[in-house]
Amino acid sequence: MLLLEFRAVAGGLSAFSLRGCFLHGLTSLFSISQRLFSTFFRNVAGVFRWPDARHGSALSRGLPLSGGPEPEGCGDAVAYGRRAGLSRAQTGWLRELREEAILGFSHAFFPDGAPETPMSESLERMADFDLSDEQREVRRTVREFAEKEILPHVERHEQEERYPSELIAKLPEMGLLGPMIPEQYGGSFSDVLTYGIICEEIARVDWVVASVISVANSLCAGSLLNFGTDAQKETFLPGIAKGEILCSACLTEPGGGTDLGNMQSTAKKVDGGWLINGTKVFISHAAHAGLFFLVASVDREKKHKGVTAFVFDPRSVESGLSISDFPMRTLKRDKLSEVHFEDAFIPDDALLGKPGGGFPILGAALDTGRFSVAARCVGQAQRCLDLALPYAMEREAFGQKIGGFQMIQQKVAEMVCRTEQARLLVYRLGRMKDAGIGRASMESSMAKLCSSQAAVQNALDGMQIFGGYSCTQEYEIGRLLMEAKSLEFGEGTSELHNRLIAEFALGIRKQ
Ligand SMILES: Cc1cc2nc3c(=O)[nH]c(=O)nc-3n(C[C@H](O)[C@H](O)[C@H](O)COP(=O)(O)OP(=O)(O)OC[C@H]3O[C@@H](n4cnc5c(N)ncnc54)[C@H](O)[C@@H]3O)c2cc1C
Repeated sequence: MLLLEFRAVAGGLSAFSLRGCFLHGLTSLFSISQRLFSTFFRNVAGVFRWPDARHGSALSRGLPLSGGPEPEGCGDAVAYGRRAGLSRAQTGWLRELREEAILGFSHAFFPDGAPETPMSESLERMADFDLSDEQREVRRTVREFAEKEILPHVERHEQEERYPSELIAKLPEMGLLGPMIPEQYGGSFSDVLTYGIICEEIARVDWVVASVISVANSLCAGSLLNFGTDAQKETFLPGIAKGEILCSACLTEPGGGTDLGNMQSTAKKVDGGWLINGTKVFISHAAHAGLFFLVASVDREKKHKGVTAFVFDPRSVESGLSISDFPMRTLKRDKLSEVHFEDAFIPDDALLGKPGGGFPILGAALDTGRFSVAARCVGQAQRCLDLALPYAMEREAFGQKIGGFQMIQQKVAEMVCRTEQARLLVYRLGRMKDAGIGRASMESSMAKLCSSQAAVQNALDGMQIFGGYSCTQEYEIGRLLMEAKSLEFGEGTSELHNRLIAEFALGIRKQ
């Protein structure tokens, strides 16, 4: 069996790796006890059977089951070894052997590097068929970049609770920090749908890096472009596109994030500027930001008519501003913050729009924000599929692949349909915006509601397919559940969007 499997991969192994692995393998094999012998062979065979022709596309993607710092595709080798009861040394050898095999295979078949990395052939056709050539090319390039440059580091960052600054630093050269910023300000704007595709592809591998892009473009750059003065645009937009200025949106308060009209934070007019008081919680990227998009009330009696928007560099605030960790159970690599203002002075030119005019600014920002969050949810839903499909075709129970069981197939079918329904809503919303329908609030709510629920349900179904292993650190799928769930809260909870959709449908609310 081992020889057969060796023959299957021999075309892909370099002479060096074959010799190295073989010698190394011989030494290790002799040390394996009789009891483990047959299990070992079965599992080694399983490791090698995996990158066969049927999984050619999977191989090019490395099928990063663990998504961790391991070389591509090696997480499963380790899992195989552990399940077979191999020692650490033997498992290490197995991992090396598989790594060599994958590299050998990859180089033999793709000497110029991995080609296009499809999500799965059938799904790819559905997702791509009505995109322009440029949009298809953006998807291909961003996916390849995300899989090569971001994905291999995500799990390690989560475990080390480390903000991914070095990954974010790679975004500007790809034009990924300014997809909604026009060229005149150094951005790479082409169309709104393309922006959605970028958010989808980056979110498919990392929640946090995708969040950097969407907060910067939808909430911050979008608000500056729509409501900012020329000076504010010149001050911030080129820096955002170049990656010199990271953005943070300070909206949610300890008293609640849904009822923003009732916010407690205040802005009091003083000579030359404003004094800000209040606390914001759950704030992403705050500790690294060079731009705060802040909302505070100039008159709390007036509820939403008192809400006022500000943009400023938090590093220029001399006193009264403190940023501390906001402890989270998940997304530890995002380093969410609590931002506390106590008589913090910000100058007059920080005002965005008019005093008391912040609610429409917030509405417009969240409208685009919901589009990008919905696109991110599609990416996450897709990722759950990407992980679950090969696992279902590899894992065996009762002498057959679990993908052959009807109940597993039903989950797969529902995951596919959910992802595609969400993608259709998101792409149509992008096209509506590209067609000049500036605000499409009902459609934004529909896209955000359906796609966030699709991401959560796909993570749940994906976990079920992985069984108990979904709860181990070896596999990414369990982490995706909490990350998807957090997207059901951000930019409006499901309850809020249900309410908005119903009110639009009933004619109680107008676009
Ligand atoms: C990972 C993560 C990152 C985040 N990043 C940011 C960020 O960068 N900036 C930022 O400002 N915020 C951020 N948030 C906060 C997020 O926007 C809020 O969690 C969200 O707005 C909901 O607010 P809340 O948690 O206070 O819930 P609440 O507003 O207290 O709501 C609690 C529950 O009551 C329901 N509810 C409220 N009103 C109604 C109603 N009228 N009818 C029916 N049900 C209702 C809600 O739907 C929810 O289920 C982040 C959150 C997470 C989890």
